[in-house]
Amino acid sequence: MISDFIKFKPANLVFVSTYKCTAACKNCCFTCSQDATLPSLPINRILHYLEEGTTGFPSIKLAVFTGGECFLLGKDLVKAIAAAKTHGLQTRCVTNGYWATSKETAVKTLSKLRSAGLDELNFSTGDEHQRYVPFNRIISGVTTACEIGIRTVLVIEGGADSGFTVQTFISTPEIAELLKSPFSKNLIIMTNVWIDFSNKSINGEQQNVALNLSEDTGCSNILESVIISPDERLLSCCGLTLKDIPEMDMGKIQGKGLKKLYEEQANDFLKLWLRVEGPQGIIDNISDDPLNHKFKHPCEACLALFSSDKIREKLIENYTSRVPDIMFKYKFKGLLQKAHDPAFLCNTNGGSHICYGI
Ligand code: SF4
Ligand code: SF4
Repeated sequence: MISDFIKFKPANLVFVSTYKCTAACKNCCFTCSQDATLPSLPINRILHYLEEGTTGFPSIKLAVFTGGECFLLGKDLVKAIAAAKTHGLQTRCVTNGYWATSKETAVKTLSKLRSAGLDELNFSTGDEHQRYVPFNRIISGVTTACEIGIRTVLVIEGGADSGFTVQTFISTPEIAELLKSPFSKNLIIMTNVWIDFSNKSINGEQQNVALNLSEDTGCSNILESVIISPDERLLSCCGLTLKDIPEMDMGKIQGKGLKKLYEEQANDFLKLWLRVEGPQGIIDNISDDPLNHKFKHPCEACLALFSSDKIREKLIENYTSRVPDIMFKYKFKGLLQKAHDPAFLCNTNGGSHICYGI
């Protein structure tokens, strides 16, 4: 049994706390929107999974609250952060910043979260987000978070033809002022390759950015976290094409429990293979086509891997010969991994990212 050889050590407990959002971005991996009927995790279930997750997986060091828009949880978000701290976890929220309608409101909202123990706040913005959330709210949110001592990550999504860029952000007077102040030490600015999956004629420059990001082509997102959906299902990753890959949905948590369900993945050799070689790497390795198709984004390659009959046939033909090699590499990679550094849940390279959705 592969599971006898593999010992998983997930680093994060991720709550996709709601599929509701104040925005409805075109390429949102969870197709979040303002639809009030979309599910949210009640606070009693969040508290339950904090207990179950930290008991079952001592390797977990970070609790992430994302969505959807986790700030829609209101007071329950404050309770959830406080509870995560009592379990000894670092804490992070991911937000579009809609709630920072003024400096005063931002101070009021963030002071409560800071007192509860919020360590890091990730803001997402860019052309698509700003169709729903005005940029001045990002300014109020980011400056306030930095001033009250929260580690703040601003992620700017976009490609080569984006209107909103890092330059736009840093040349805003309030941000320029912040960058000159001692609070600038709390700010990290990152760019994120935001792929428009609906746009087949995506420009070449954006494609190159995505493909050249990392020499290590393994997927750093799969199996890294215990991910709980708002309808209490366990997810294997936060990929952009997650919703179209049924194999990434491990099913209802209730009944089996988090640990058993998560560890069942040890017997899914393809997930281990993805962790080691990544979807494009696997396709390249099993294909006999020297001009093998290069995908714009790993998650797009992953969708092809799981849905194409041709690729599936090749996988079945090839996988047994790769088992010893991949298992060795998986084990070796695990040994080399550092104790978790609560960094953004993406591949990083010089401040650029392949974003996997949260
Ligand atoms: S990408 Fe983020 S801000 Fe946009 S709809 Fe999805 S969760 Fe909301
Ligand atoms: S490439 Fe994307 S969809 Fe595939 S496992 Fe990684 S994060 Fe998930």
